[in-house]
Amino acid sequence: MTTSMENICTSCGSQFVVPAAEAKFRIDRGLETPAQCPACRGASRASRNIDLLALYERADSLSPQDGRSTNARSGGDGRSRGPRRGGVTQQRYSTVCAACGSDTTVPFVPRGDRPVYCRDCFNARKGT
Ligand SMILES: [Zn+2]
Ligand SMILES: [Zn+2]
Repeated sequence: MTTSMENICTSCGSQFVVPAAEAKFRIDRGLETPAQCPACRGASRASRNIDLLALYERADSLSPQDGRSTNARSGGDGRSRGPRRGGVTQQRYSTVCAACGSDTTVPFVPRGDRPVYCRDCFNARKGT
């Protein structure tokens, strides 16, 4: 059984609801219920972030361009080259070998203006 709590913002004076989950979270940890509405809390958090950012920027300008050159030239050679992936994805067309007459597939469209050989016959012709 959880109930949400109502509270008055100390910053803008408007009533706001502390969600049950947040109220339980705070009670479990012995924290005070929030004194500001979510909007004001968000605003103060944002301004805190701005302060932090300003701090970081100042720290950055104190050490100019340090730690930037460590990773500049390493890697970058592992790019995949071409569409081939293990030679399996290539489109093949079925045809008949001009030498042995058996059905085979070739990686190009058979046009009929030159003989098409199966792999065995092709390798045999190339080899000799
Ligand atoms: Zn408020
Ligand atoms: Zn053949």
